[in-house]
Amino acid sequence: MKTPLAELDGDEMTRVLWADIKAELIAPFVELKTEYYDLGLASRAATDDAVTAQAAEAIRRLGVGVKCATITPNAARQKEYHLKKLYPSPNASIRAALDGTVFRAPITSPALRGSVSRWEKPIVIGRHAYGDVYKAAEMRAEAGAKIELCRTAADGSETRIPVAVMKEAGIIQAVHNFDESIRNFARSCFRYALDSKLPVLFAAKDTISKIYDGRFRELFMEVYENEFKILCEKAGVSYSYTLIDDAVARVMQSEGGFLWACKNYDGDVMSDMIASASGSLAMMTSVLVSPDGVFEFEAAHGTVQRHYYRYLKGERCGTNPTALIFAWTGALAKRGELDGLPALSAFAKRLESAVLAVIESGLITGDLERAASPRVKRILTSGEFITEIQARLRV
Ligand code: NAP
Ligand code: MG
Repeated sequence: MKTPLAELDGDEMTRVLWADIKAELIAPFVELKTEYYDLGLASRAATDDAVTAQAAEAIRRLGVGVKCATITPNAARQKEYHLKKLYPSPNASIRAALDGTVFRAPITSPALRGSVSRWEKPIVIGRHAYGDVYKAAEMRAEAGAKIELCRTAADGSETRIPVAVMKEAGIIQAVHNFDESIRNFARSCFRYALDSKLPVLFAAKDTISKIYDGRFRELFMEVYENEFKILCEKAGVSYSYTLIDDAVARVMQSEGGFLWACKNYDGDVMSDMIASASGSLAMMTSVLVSPDGVFEFEAAHGTVQRHYYRYLKGERCGTNPTALIFAWTGALAKRGELDGLPALSAFAKRLESAVLAVIESGLITGDLERAASPRVKRILTSGEFITEIQARLRV
């Protein structure tokens, strides 16, 4: 390797697998260079979350990062880890710092049958990674409170609109986004679509949210018309907009093979649906692409807490490491491409093929049992699965 990867370690079961993957599948085969940042919750707490900002800076500086899953603290976690405060989601912090779009694509294999039989080709989610409910201001409101939205312009002038008069106690929330972030979202989606020759479908709810979602629709179309229409027409890449509920109906009836551009929340929810319908949450890649071409690869799933507690009790543990391995291969392949190291990119491909070969030979982790087709030879633990992959890399 020439340039190191920004390596962001994480929490729980994925942290355990992270170390195994590095030791068994990467280090013996690659002269690995990384800049290591420990984003495990204990380390975030010890540094008052400074390590997250440092990691985001490293990804920006080095151009490529690879990230393990991390705990987003809630009240239960605050107690469990004796936290002074609820640190924000590292993913949200990094996404906000890089202003990226997250692309999530299922990892498919002829040995896995998805639960939607119509889907013959993968559906890729392009998730806007800034703002909306992930950067919301929210609070509770007591009965009788008068709620207004107030915008104070740079010159101090105020514009207020009524939100509600609280006839009883309740909750309120304000969200925002930026025009340029939305334009960058659209640009990333069209670039990805041109690269992969996929039609683009963007969906929001502009019938209800005329100004907010209406602006998303308008800017997406503006970017398409002004910057991508000619390129897309030449490449045979189509663009269409539809309402989010119509999009869901259409997606379920489709044969797949398109890029579904989603607002932040829709992308969060829909990518898990696509992943689990395609076999397992562990069979999905996730990459954050910033408008200036910085890449962060991760798994789409979380830290797999339930498995971790079983692992701590010494029980047999069959967490599927595929998405974590593909985070590494995605990052190594990109580093190879950027640094002109074809052998590095070739190794990444070989590792991916080795993972799929193990699955195709009927050796799987438990999460794939229902999707496996035609037969399962043996259900493996995470460790056994990784050993099988290594054996295929060594031949
Ligand atoms: P999760 O870690 O994605 O796991 C949810 C369930 O999905 C698991 O209990 C397991 O189901 C299944 N699953 C997920 N990944 C799997 C794998 N690799 N192999 C086998 N099964 C897998 O979500 P969570 O339990 O709701 O969240 C745990 C923590 O992760 C939370 O603290 C959350 O904040 C964090 N999180 C982080 C990220 C991220 O860093 N990108 C994303 C989401 C959540 P069974 O138990 O039925 O086997
Ligand atoms: Mg999610």
